[in-house]
Parts: sequence; structure tokens; C-alpha cells
Amino acid sequence: MRYSENVARLKPSATMAVSALAKRLASEGKDILDLSAGEPDFDTPAFVRDAAIRGIQGGQTRYTPPAGTPALRKAIAARLSERAGREMHWEGVVVTSGAKQALFNAIFTLFGPGDEVLIPAPYWTTYPDLVQVARAEPVIVMGDEKRSFKVTTSDLEKAATPRTRGLVLNSPCNPTGAVYSKTEIERLAAWARERNAWLISDEIYRAIYYGAEGGHAPGLLELPTSSLGPFVLVDGASKSFAMTGWRIGFTWSEPDVAKKMTALQSQITSNPTTPAQAAALEAYSNVRVADASVAEMGAAFRRRRDLVTARMRELLPDVPFVQPEGAFYLYFRVDAFFGGGVTNASAWCSRLLEDQGVALVPGAAFGDDRWVRMSYAASDEVLEKALARVAAQVGSVVS
Ligand code: PMP
Repeated sequence: MRYSENVARLKPSATMAVSALAKRLASEGKDILDLSAGEPDFDTPAFVRDAAIRGIQGGQTRYTPPAGTPALRKAIAARLSERAGREMHWEGVVVTSGAKQALFNAIFTLFGPGDEVLIPAPYWTTYPDLVQVARAEPVIVMGDEKRSFKVTTSDLEKAATPRTRGLVLNSPCNPTGAVYSKTEIERLAAWARERNAWLISDEIYRAIYYGAEGGHAPGLLELPTSSLGPFVLVDGASKSFAMTGWRIGFTWSEPDVAKKMTALQSQITSNPTTPAQAAALEAYSNVRVADASVAEMGAAFRRRRDLVTARMRELLPDVPFVQPEGAFYLYFRVDAFFGGGVTNASAWCSRLLEDQGVALVPGAAFGDDRWVRMSYAASDEVLEKALARVAAQVGSVVS
């Protein structure tokens, strides 16, 4: 079959193979510990669920304006303004069907044939594919392992060409858990501004941060406006409020860009689901309860981060991993265990799943198939068991 050039290079997510195998083995009754998922294991908080039910009963079941209800856009803008210490106009907010659509809107609106978009690696698996769907070129920029793979302006400089039109930044990072400091972000933002490149900042994990207790990872809005060029901020409710299935994300940009993205969205999804917007309105406007719930989940993730990193040092002392400062992933290196027909992390993950029943995501999904990603959005018991099984797989002593 000959398909359109739009999807010529599109491939299904590299995480699919392992998760499909995990599901099949689980359905056959095998004891599977699935740590491949990119979602919190908590239920959506009750105050948010209740708001959705009230919304449905109150008739919030019809189309809304394409960019979302003014009430939700204003509530999100109010939270952004609080963070920025200046007014972030509510017309700049476009509510989307998950942060994924927010990224699609931004990338499809800003880039096209002939444009190059810099993507620091390891990257979240979707960025290069979205750039290709826009028929632009993803340019992968690998950060230095010694700096938790964070890129610097000199890394970007080496990859830049006169066609460079954008940079996609993700901090806290999926899959590494690395977090850029405010100074680091400021340098990268200033570089993008000088280059006249769009900065797309995916801050979906901002609330899951282990730096300052109860704090948030630094982001674009904390920077002085003088160091910011044109940018699109991407965020959403999926990770902070355990709302992955509700499909609510958003962008903030200058209103003229927001209008273009809204026009695009009005032609493809019309609007994010209305009851989900009612739920999100509660999450973004009931500030006190929302902050308490984010802090509670954040504390659980911090405890698990401490647990998995301690166990790694104990059970797999020679295995390099990135110390996670945010998000809920542990990224570790497994090429020392290749051999016997296993030549990359994809094959290693399949073998681990078959032998030990542990599902991880191979680094092929993130640009380096010598590494793997383990989600620690799981109970302590599951995490303990999973790491013991990984250690058993690689032949380390398990106490
Ligand atoms: N950005 C990153 C870095 C992510 O990890 C994810 C989800 N895995 C998304 C965006 C998409 O989020 P959503 O579910 O809201 O579409």
C-alpha cells in the first residue's frame, strides 16, 4: 500500500513490542511486573472525580469553544500567572486532548518542510515522530552521560544549521528523570532566542520534583522575560493529578500563536472532552485541595525514588543509572549484559520479560538502545520484587 508522505516515516511507538508481550504473558497467567507504563499508579483524586460527575449531571455534555471553556482557560492562566509573577493572558491558553495534542498542535503549527528541530536525547519517544508528521526534520542532540544527559548550548551549537527553527526541551525529563536548573534553562532559552528558534518546553512532570521539598521543578515561566524568545509552554493534568485517561493538556503561548493552534484543533478534535474540562477546572481552581493532593503524590514518588536508587546501589552496584531529580522513571544502562544473541536493549528487555516477568522499556524508544527505562509508579512491594528479579537475571547476588 502506498500511503501519504505525511505518514511515510511514522512508526508505532517503540514501547509497543514489550507491552504487547507483557499483556500476552499476563493473559496466559504468568506473574508479570509491568514497569513499562508512563502513568501514575494513583487514582484521580476524589475532588476531581466528583467535579466531573457534577458537571455531567449539570449538563456539561455539549461542545465547548475549541480552545476550552473560558472558565478553565482563566483558571489555568491564574495558576501560570502566580508562578510567573506577571499576568499570563488567558487568551494564551489552549486546552488540548492531553499534552500529546498540545505538542502536536505546537509542532504542526510552527514547523514544516525544510525546517530542523533540535531534540535533546534521550528524548520522549513521541517528539521525533511528531516533527516528522509535520514533514520537518528532527535533529537529535545527545547530552553527556556525565551531566545526566542534559544538553548545553555548545551541544546545541554543534547540531544547529541555518535551518534550525526549534528546540524541544523536556524537564523533568522522560526517560532520565534529569532536571535542568533555572540557570541551565535560562542559557538554553537565551540560545534559542539568539538563534530565532522556537522553544517548546514540555513541563508535564514539573510537579513531580525531588529538589526542594514540596516544590516544583524550574521552568520557563520563572525566567526573566528578557531571556525568553518565542516559546510554547506545554503542560497538563495527566501526571500532576493522575488524570491520564481524561486527556487534558494545555499550551501557553502568545495569543496569535494560540489562535493558530486553536484553528488547527477546531478542525481535528473540535474541543477537549467537556466532562474532562469540568474535572480539570476543579483541579486548577480548587488550589488548596489540589496542592495538597499533588504534594501527597509527590511525597510517595520521592519515597519510591529513594527506594529504587538505594536498591540499585545495593543489588546492581556496577550498573550506571541517572539519579532522578523528577518524574518517576529510572534510566539505567544494560549493555554490559549483552551477549548470547542479545545485542541491544530491545532484545534484553524481551529476554527479561520472558525469563523474569519484568516489563521495562528499551532505550530504542528514547534514542539509545543500550539503556532501559523502569517506571517506579508502582507499589514498594512490586518495585522490590522487580529489582530483585533484574539482579537475578544479570547474575548478581540477591540477598
Ligand atoms: N510529554 C511527556 C514527556 C510525557 O511523558 C507524556 C506522557 N507519557 C506526555 C507528554 C503526554 O501526556 P498526555 O498523556 O497528557 O498526552
